Amino acid sequence: MNTIERMESEVRSYCRAFPATFTTAEGCYQYDDTGKEYLDFFSGAGTLNYGHNNPQLKAKLVEYIQQDGVVHSLDMTTTAKVRLLERFESVILKPRGLDYKVQFPGPTGTNAVESALKLARKITGREKILSFTNAFHGMTLGSLTVSGNTFKRDGAGIPLTFAVMMPYDGYFGEDVDTIDYIDQLLSDTGSGVDAPAAAIVETVQAEGGINVASFEWLRRLEAMCRKYNMLFIVDDIQVGCGRTGPFFSFEPAGLDPDVVCLSKSLSGYGLPLAFTLIRRELDQWEPGEHNGTFRGHNLAFVTATEALSYWEDDTLRRAVQRKGQKARDCFDGLVEQYPDLFVEARGRGLIQGLECTPAGLADQISVAAFERGLLAETSGPEGHVLKLLPPLTIEDAELAAGLQIIEEAVEEVAKKRGVYSVTASEQHDAHAS
Ligand code: PLP
Repeated sequence: MNTIERMESEVRSYCRAFPATFTTAEGCYQYDDTGKEYLDFFSGAGTLNYGHNNPQLKAKLVEYIQQDGVVHSLDMTTTAKVRLLERFESVILKPRGLDYKVQFPGPTGTNAVESALKLARKITGREKILSFTNAFHGMTLGSLTVSGNTFKRDGAGIPLTFAVMMPYDGYFGEDVDTIDYIDQLLSDTGSGVDAPAAAIVETVQAEGGINVASFEWLRRLEAMCRKYNMLFIVDDIQVGCGRTGPFFSFEPAGLDPDVVCLSKSLSGYGLPLAFTLIRRELDQWEPGEHNGTFRGHNLAFVTATEALSYWEDDTLRRAVQRKGQKARDCFDGLVEQYPDLFVEARGRGLIQGLECTPAGLADQISVAAFERGLLAETSGPEGHVLKLLPPLTIEDAELAAGLQIIEEAVEEVAKKRGVYSVTASEQHDAHAS
């Protein structure tokens, strides 16, 4: 039994999917203790959008440490924090015409979600939060309440109340407009559905199976929030910070959320950091009403400030869209080649998913890819969607190499299942006739 099995709780998960002992990492590569190289198309579940140990960010971090810059500061003022807020205002908020106050809710994504839910309840005096099927917002109790996954919800061990689950875009298929459905329930005094304090939504449900909401659906959701005086909260923890192309995933939909949750790639270096962005007039907290020790992680402030330099122009945004299309083309090609194995490809920018039909197939592809030196995880309630999240800064050649590994992994797994690609079958038929 190795040290991890002997010492680390059974709750561990990713080390089971990727059984290697990693030592170093650079850009889109990780290396294990045998020297094997892995292309990382997982990126810490969207935490390493600028790659591992990004040299630009590392230089600022090392410089700050060398100068004995303050590391921990609760929420006292430091130059590192002031710089981050000023850069965030000038590079992200102002050019987008956004006027948010920044709350430091605690270092993780779920801290941002908890604070958003608390604030919505405080402001409206209502208890329920409207959330969506297959949502994932984190593992603390409030966040679990608004998350869909039964396995994770069951871990709470108590009833998860004060949320109302509604169907996400496309949940009942293309023909059912779920906003009409929700609107009907909220407007009907006989429906038994209380007016919620807020709706919380992911524009692309990353953990839930790469479900992509249409811009129109998101706009109508926002309008419905206005109609019923609910706060409109966008959880951009996984698909913000450029994952879909623009810094905020909701930009192309023209949304104007009341609250935005950010974390994961915010520090840009894998250091814990979260923001709860609050529309100025809704910042109705009393001092210290939502508190926490690790809200002054200055090392993360330093790297986050430097990461914003990627957003001074639209070079990265355009690169993400171009590279995302390549990943999508690869997945579309696989759907075409293996109609018995795959339902569809879906995603936005550099978050792309491949929905698999047979149970366990996505996992098998992930394992086969891992053996070939590529990290790619699965998502969805049954783990049935293969999910690609390469660093946004990945080179074209590296992206192509990773996609080729995926194709080879699919071919190997398909062969084991006795399934051949459409092209291979046609060639076989041509030979036979
Ligand atoms: N919200 C979304 C959309 C996420 O994807 C996640 C994590 O995967 C969270 C919230 C929770 O973030 P954390 O794991 O940092 O608490």
